[in-house]
Amino acid sequence: MRFEVSKVLDAIEGRLTTDPALARAVIDLSEIVRYADLDGGRPASLLRLGLVIDALGRHVAEENVPVYAIVPRGLLSDADLTSNERMVVRRWADDGVVEVVPQLDDRVLEVAELLGLPVLTRTRAEQFRDRRPWVEDPGRLLAAVPGAGGPVLVARVGRGEIPAVAEPSPMGRKLLSRVWGCPDTNCGAYGQGGDPDSPFADMRKTTSPVSQPPPSLRAGVPTCPRHGTRLRDAGPRPAVEVLSVRIDGVVRKRFVVSTETPVVVGRAPEGGVMLGQWLTDDARKWISRGHVRFALRSGELSAQDVSTNGTGIRPNGSLEDDDRITLGRDEMRALGPNDMVELYAQVHVGRAKLWNNGGVTQPHSVMGEAPTMAMRKFNP
Ligand SMILES: [Zn+2]
Repeated sequence: MRFEVSKVLDAIEGRLTTDPALARAVIDLSEIVRYADLDGGRPASLLRLGLVIDALGRHVAEENVPVYAIVPRGLLSDADLTSNERMVVRRWADDGVVEVVPQLDDRVLEVAELLGLPVLTRTRAEQFRDRRPWVEDPGRLLAAVPGAGGPVLVARVGRGEIPAVAEPSPMGRKLLSRVWGCPDTNCGAYGQGGDPDSPFADMRKTTSPVSQPPPSLRAGVPTCPRHGTRLRDAGPRPAVEVLSVRIDGVVRKRFVVSTETPVVVGRAPEGGVMLGQWLTDDARKWISRGHVRFALRSGELSAQDVSTNGTGIRPNGSLEDDDRITLGRDEMRALGPNDMVELYAQVHVGRAKLWNNGGVTQPHSVMGEAPTMAMRKFNP
């Protein structure tokens, strides 16, 4: 059973991010692990995070939906978790897939506000509205509650639809336009303070400047949420575009293209976005290992064919055959806001905002390997 639990925790880890471009909701991990009514089990269990992540995936009907988890430091030594669970949370903290803070304070709501994301919490809006009036906007607070087919998310206000692409606040946009450096040399999130020419610079486990989490604001000053130190402005941050891969009507994956990092999408590209696992045999034969290269330069997103069979462009998402433009080998084209790139029939890549619904009723569960004990409540 221990083996199965560790596989579930690995699957959960794959859904944790503090990358503002990829996160779809913000949670307080110390709150989620205590939702005992979700499975009727121990006072605290890390597996409940998996139940909530699955609920979020079903809510947006999309595969591989990541969450931004904030961990108050006390949870790392919480005696209600197993020693294995505590060790896993510490590993997540060290790897920077969760954000650790000395005290939770207002950080969950701050991140949600800056990034424009919903908060998954059972706390009622009344408790927050004096400081954060937007908590009463439709769909900004969602509670995970037990449901017949596993936990479901219920909005405090409105229908609780989560937009495909979050809209950061004006302050969030301002903070995300810069790279920040923490004076603490061990800082994983803003570890730009060290000497970049040091022979050990590559070995530092730091978040790339493109995916740095939003700083905390203390009295208007950008501050490291973990170390409480004032952050140094280390220059402009590379721009990003979030793209989605949609295959046979289902959004399979999101990825980020930045001005610094072009991304190759194909059947099995080296270091790019690999589609092979989701393709039919015919599509797999047609699509090259590396098929199309996305780049972002001076605010312009472009697609360049690097395949054997060519890449289609669907201007404004039109599926009419007359509208399809074919790029031959090495040809490049700037993409309009609603243009879709077609690698094969029904294999599309476009800006994430193009598809508001992920198109999948039962997304792959991170709890797939969970021991039956943890799932007891859902199989009446
Ligand atoms: Zn720091």
